[in-house]
Amino acid sequence: TAERMNGKELAATKHAEMKVRVSELAKSGIVPGLAVILVGDDQASQTYVRSKQKMCEKVGIHSILKHLPADTTEEVLLSHIDELNNDPEIDGILVQLPLPKQISEQAVIEAISPEKDVDGFHPINIGKMMTGEKTFLPCTPHGIIELLKASEVQIAGSHAVVVGRSNIVGKPVGQLLLNEHATVTYCHSRTVDLRAITTQADILVVAVGIAKLIKKEDIKPGAVIIDVGMNRDENGKLCGDVDFDDVEDIASHITPVPGGVGPMTITMLLENTIESALNRS
Ligand code: NAD
Repeated sequence: TAERMNGKELAATKHAEMKVRVSELAKSGIVPGLAVILVGDDQASQTYVRSKQKMCEKVGIHSILKHLPADTTEEVLLSHIDELNNDPEIDGILVQLPLPKQISEQAVIEAISPEKDVDGFHPINIGKMMTGEKTFLPCTPHGIIELLKASEVQIAGSHAVVVGRSNIVGKPVGQLLLNEHATVTYCHSRTVDLRAITTQADILVVAVGIAKLIKKEDIKPGAVIIDVGMNRDENGKLCGDVDFDDVEDIASHITPVPGGVGPMTITMLLENTIESALNRS
């Protein structure tokens, strides 16, 4: 039966390390600061924002929340970002997506100073990630690489298949796997014969958003399975894009949902914020 890749445990280890780093920084009078901007009243977004703030508090990062009404204009949002870009106490700025439709997400992402872009979504930081320069890496993909390394999974030379090509998960996780010398194949909604490709994967990353899409017939025996999905099953229970019970016996490693990739995402956000604070001159 597959070894569970415990994101919750790895996150806890990293939180303890970060606490130490934050108290070291405090000696030079620096408290890392994260600003979170939330527009509107989306329930899921509010939950995410709350857990990000709670985690900040745990490791000693100062966090502020700007909660703006749903009818906020792009101009007003950009002026808030401008203010935070120039605030010396703020090391990281995060705008919770999705945004209401009157606001261009791309314009907002590009307005955040690349030096404070702890989500790693700014085109400059995406470019640096592609060329392998040191930069803020997107949190979910970075957390996945950390999980693979902590589980001592061999990435170099492996065939990694990524299902899903979103800008926040699929595309960047493929790039990071390539940076680690995997041979990478991307699959998506237009892929013809998905199974023919996923069954070739040594490492299979699934970020689609369809409950239990991946069954045991879709994987190669001994494959490492990273399940990014967060869905509800027919009983309203949280589940991934992979049918865990079905594949557990033939995979070599698998991330559970919850407790796998999820806890790593916030952890990498906090790490980026601390890194950014270290760059204060
Ligand atoms: P998205 O909706 O932006 O992208 C989904 C991708 O899946 C698309 O690229 C699409 O081409 C592909 N796809 C759709 N149907 C497909 C099919 N039948 N076969 C193959 N590919 C198909 O989603 P996203 O933002 O990348 O998120 C994916 C999932 O991961 C969601 O469940 C989301 O909640 C979850 N998520 C989890 C975390 C975390 O921290 N754990 C972070 C981000 C997203």
